[in-house]
Amino acid sequence: MVSIDLDSKLMASKMRNEFLYKQFVKAGYLLPPAEKIFDKLRLVNFRRSACVDRSLLFPSEFIYGLDSKGHDVIPITVEVLIAATTLYVPNETEHALNVAKRMGYNASCSFQRAAIGLESQNKLPKFKAAFISNVPCDYSADTFNQIFSKRKIPVYNFILPSEYNINTKKFMKSQFEQFAKRIYEDSKGDIRMDIDKLREAIKYSNDSRKNFLDGINHMKGPGRLIKGTEFVNYNLFCSGGFGSKEFVTISKKFSKELGERRKYLETNKVNKSEKPRICLIHFPPYSYLDFLKNIDSQGDIVAAEINSIWWDEIPYDDPFEGLAIKMGAKSGVGWSLKSRSEVIHRHILEEFNIDGVIYIQHMFGTSCPLASEGCVSRLKNEIDIVNKKFNKDMLVEVVPIDCICSTSVPANVDTRIDSFFETLRLRKGQPPFWLERFEN
Ligand code: SF4
Repeated sequence: MVSIDLDSKLMASKMRNEFLYKQFVKAGYLLPPAEKIFDKLRLVNFRRSACVDRSLLFPSEFIYGLDSKGHDVIPITVEVLIAATTLYVPNETEHALNVAKRMGYNASCSFQRAAIGLESQNKLPKFKAAFISNVPCDYSADTFNQIFSKRKIPVYNFILPSEYNINTKKFMKSQFEQFAKRIYEDSKGDIRMDIDKLREAIKYSNDSRKNFLDGINHMKGPGRLIKGTEFVNYNLFCSGGFGSKEFVTISKKFSKELGERRKYLETNKVNKSEKPRICLIHFPPYSYLDFLKNIDSQGDIVAAEINSIWWDEIPYDDPFEGLAIKMGAKSGVGWSLKSRSEVIHRHILEEFNIDGVIYIQHMFGTSCPLASEGCVSRLKNEIDIVNKKFNKDMLVEVVPIDCICSTSVPANVDTRIDSFFETLRLRKGQPPFWLERFEN
């Protein structure tokens, strides 16, 4: 077997980035890396496509079922677009945040402020419609409704009921049926739902789901297969890919490459990393990349909440019903705060041999429903349950840091991470000090 550099970037990651930036280009949003990724000629040849906004939980399969004069409709998630902008053109995000502030828009959520700032400069893609769900954040639904209604873009608000039963499943199914009818009428026949295409999108989504799960499962064994900075963005950045054929190829490559790396670690005399194994909860801070680099140097991020696939295979005979089942996945509904803790966190904590959990408490102390004290206590509760069950001593560090606004980086954040790792190393019976820091 040829030797593998476990820190080199996966080919699947390059393919995933290409996929994401191609979607941005098709939607008319040109980020600087696009010119590096594609040559100029290919860039010019990408046909502009009809695009719609989707919030993170709205099923992208529904959008791949739509047809616009024989072409796909592109799902763009504005939050992902903002995160990618922060990574590659941080000044653009800072400027958008300032524009929104000058306009008197003072929502505490920096994603929403940036969206308002970009919109007021007419920089968002020219969306044909927006599909927004009230979970996890009806606060964000409110902001995006404001943005889109100003631009006279039809907005379809998907209501996720707080419990899942036969009646709420019917209710969710009927919303998808209504949206399919309404987008045809609102677009004056330009965009229509093609049920066969929707079934096909669900089949692609199921294939991608299976491949990603296979790939992620390889992370369970000892050692490190991929850099944390590369791994943490895997599914979030392309959550809009589920339902597309290209994503099946990417996910297959992801699974294959991680499988090869696992096999290489198991069959060769290479030193497996014994650094503390970390689970990262919530989005990483894109405005302060040193934060992730520090974690990556001292620990191995082997699990990340935003890579979770919490839904089962989606039935496709009755595709609207299938999507309703996806939205109502598991015991809770979708990504409701309760199910997020029980369905996502517990399974990660139990299966990936985690030593420490880092929770990014985005916009600490504000109204973000994913960063409340309730979220922290539910997470701590899950950690306690798993610690007791496996007689473990997992440690959690809650870091109050904003995901995209660089002015909200706490001064002591690096020291906190350092002392978190010192404690973890002590618990693993290793010297507490980070010797490599002095050796390099
Ligand atoms: S969940 Fe939090 S970060 Fe996301 S849009 Fe709502 S307030 Fe902002």
